Amino acid sequence: MFIEGRELTFKHNIPVTSVEKYWKGLEEGKIYGTTCKNCGAKFSPPQADCSVCYSSDMEWVEIGGEGEVECLTEQHSFPAGFEFLKEPYTIAVARFGDFRVIGWAREKISVGDKVVAETDKDETGVWKVYFKKA
Ligand SMILES: [Zn+2]
Repeated sequence: MFIEGRELTFKHNIPVTSVEKYWKGLEEGKIYGTTCKNCGAKFSPPQADCSVCYSSDMEWVEIGGEGEVECLTEQHSFPAGFEFLKEPYTIAVARFGDFRVIGWAREKISVGDKVVAETDKDETGVWKVYFKKA
């Protein structure tokens, strides 16, 4: 048995102090990842602690150059918080050297395409990573 539900609005703040460099970097057009100095694991988005060996001895690495699209998904639904999107959008994962970066496609891209990453604010003022063809 169910009773009729109500639509609820939920807003949460995500603590980012330990990875503040990543968010500041986006504002400067830079994308950072972290590498574990103990075991070499790579993280993008960056992690302040290694989820492989649990070390907190991490090194910040700027990710750049040309990446290759490994996978993508085209979204035709607009979940809560993304109603501002009017058209289907594509989110992709591209490999930049040892790092995999997730980003929003600025144009039609396909698996195997070479892309460059750039940063920009979305319509709500949140900084994101975007891909465009190289
Ligand atoms: Zn590690």
